[in-house]
Amino acid sequence: MRLSRYFLPVLKENPAEAQIVSHRLMLRSGMIKQSAAGIYSWLPLGLKVLEKIEDIVHEEQKKAGHLAILMPTIQSADLWRESGRYDDYGEEMLRFKDRHDRDMLFTPTAEELVTDIFRGHVTSYKDLPLTMYQIQWKFRDERRPRFGVMRGREFYMKDGYNFDLTKEDALHAYNRHLVSYLRTYERMGLQAIPMRADSGPIGGDDTHEFLVLAETGESEVFYDSAVTDLTFGDREIDFDDVVQCQSIMEEFTTKYARTDETHDAALFADVPEERRKVARGIEVGQIFYFGTKYSEALGASVQDAEGKKVPVHMGSHGIGVSRLVGAIIEASHDDKGIIWPEGVTPFHCGIVNLKQGDDEADAACENLYKHLTKAGLEPLYDDRNERAGGKFATMDLIGLPWRITVGPRGLKNGVVELTSRKTGVSEEMSPEVAIKKVIAQYC
Ligand code: ATP
Ligand code: MG
Repeated sequence: MRLSRYFLPVLKENPAEAQIVSHRLMLRSGMIKQSAAGIYSWLPLGLKVLEKIEDIVHEEQKKAGHLAILMPTIQSADLWRESGRYDDYGEEMLRFKDRHDRDMLFTPTAEELVTDIFRGHVTSYKDLPLTMYQIQWKFRDERRPRFGVMRGREFYMKDGYNFDLTKEDALHAYNRHLVSYLRTYERMGLQAIPMRADSGPIGGDDTHEFLVLAETGESEVFYDSAVTDLTFGDREIDFDDVVQCQSIMEEFTTKYARTDETHDAALFADVPEERRKVARGIEVGQIFYFGTKYSEALGASVQDAEGKKVPVHMGSHGIGVSRLVGAIIEASHDDKGIIWPEGVTPFHCGIVNLKQGDDEADAACENLYKHLTKAGLEPLYDDRNERAGGKFATMDLIGLPWRITVGPRGLKNGVVELTSRKTGVSEEMSPEVAIKKVIAQYC
C-alpha cells in the first residue's frame, strides 16, 4: 500500500475523551472513529488488525476441530423466554420490537440460539462430540462504555459452544479450549494467564478467564509470579488426546491465579511471599462448563448407546476479538506510539523515502516495495511529499515492527537502513539484505 493512496486520518493532538493509552493511540493512528457511546467504525488500519486477530482465532479454532458457523445478530425473544434468561439478563440486553410487535433483541451471547440449532438436527450420541463457534458482533448495553473498544457496547466476539454426551467428554472440551486459547493469545504476542473466575449470568461451576496483565485493566488479579514463566511455545498438540490436553491444562492452572471474584486470601498466603503478586488485568477471554443447564431448559438431548434419551453436556467459550486490539496495544507501546507484535501487524514493514522526487531514492523504494510484495508481504510505503520527521513520527505512531529508510546519501554507499520498532536499533545494509531480513521475520 502506498500511503498517498491510503486513508490514515492521523491525529496530531491527544483526543481529550481517551483516558487510556490504547484508546488514545487507536484514535490518533486513525484506526477507529466513534459513532455513538461504545459504538465504533473501524477504519482501514484498525480493520486490518481486527482481521488479523480474527484470522488467528479461526485458524486455532479449526486446528482444535471446531466448526465455524454464523448466527444472526438479531434474535427473537422466544428462545430466551424458553431458557428463562429473558427476564434475568437485565438492562444489558438491547430489546426492541419489529413491525409485527414481536419482541426482538440484539445478541449479547448465543447459548439459546446454538442450542436451538442443535436440538433441531442432532438426535444421536453418534453425532457427538460437536463444537460450533462463530465470530460475530454482539451488543451489550453496558452501563459505562469506556476505554474505546475495550468496553464497547457493540463488540466483536468469538463465541464457541460444545455439545458432549458425558460430563467427562465436556470437560475434555473445556481443556481443549483452554489449550487452544493459550496458543491463540501467544500467536498475537500476548501472555494471557488463565485465572479461576466466577461464572456470572452464564451459570456453571467450572470457568477460567484469560487475563492480560496491564495497569489499566479493569479486574484486580492475584497470582503466583511463577505463572508468568509459563509459555506454550510451538508444542505439537493432538486435540483429541484427553491426557495431553488435561496435563497442559493442569500445568497452566495449578499455580495460584485468581480474579478478585474468586480470590481466597488463605490460599494465597501459601504462595511464597516474594512470588505473591497483586496487579490489574484485562479479560480477553473466558471458558465455561455449565453441564445440562441449557440443554435441559431447551430440550436438547440425544439417544445414548442404550437408546436412552439424555440431555447433552455443554460449555461456552468466548474471546474478545475487538477488545484484543486494545489489549495488545496496552501491552505493547511506548511514548511514540504502538509497537505491533509481528503476528497481528497491519503491514509487515514500512518504507520511508527521505527524498520523494529524487530519481534514485524513488526507484530504490519502488524496488523494495515490489520485492516485498512479491514475497507475499504487505509493505506500507510512505511516498508522500513530507518532511522526514513527519514520516518517522507517523511510522512510530502506527507501530509497524520494521521500517526501511531510503535516502540519497545512503544509496550513494549502496545502503538503506533497517530499523526495529521494538528495540529502536537501526542497521545499514544493502537493499537486498534488508529485503531478506524482513522476509525472514515472517517466514
Ligand atoms: P466483562 O466482565 O469484561 O464485562 P464478560 O465476562 O461479561 O466481560 P464474556 O461473556 O465472558 O464477557 O464474553 C467473552 C469475552 O468478550 C470477554 O472475555 C471479553 O474479552 C469480551 N467482552 C465482553 N464484554 C465486552 C465489551 N463490553 N466490550 C468489548 N469486549 C467485551
Ligand atoms: Mg467473562
